[in-house]
Amino acid sequence: MPQTTLTGKELPEEEPEEDEFWSEGSFAETMSGKDWELKKRTFHMKHNEEMNYNCKQCNTKISAHNKDWHANLCDKCFDKMMGND
Ligand SMILES: [Zn+2]
Repeated sequence: MPQTTLTGKELPEEEPEEDEFWSEGSFAETMSGKDWELKKRTFHMKHNEEMNYNCKQCNTKISAHNKDWHANLCDKCFDKMMGND
């Protein structure tokens, strides 16, 4: 009876094995990628993202990016500090 072999039961059983192997490798990649992503997270953020901080000079709202990369200063104060005063 050829109909029983056309049910497709044998095919799906073999494919998941390869899928499992694949996702295991991509899982490890995701882990190391996430770790790296965390370190550079705020660097790639926009200047108006996560405005949860305050400029230590004028107390204006600043982003996580400014906090981490602009010495806790808003763009104005950061410019001043850089010598444009
Ligand atoms: Zn400021």
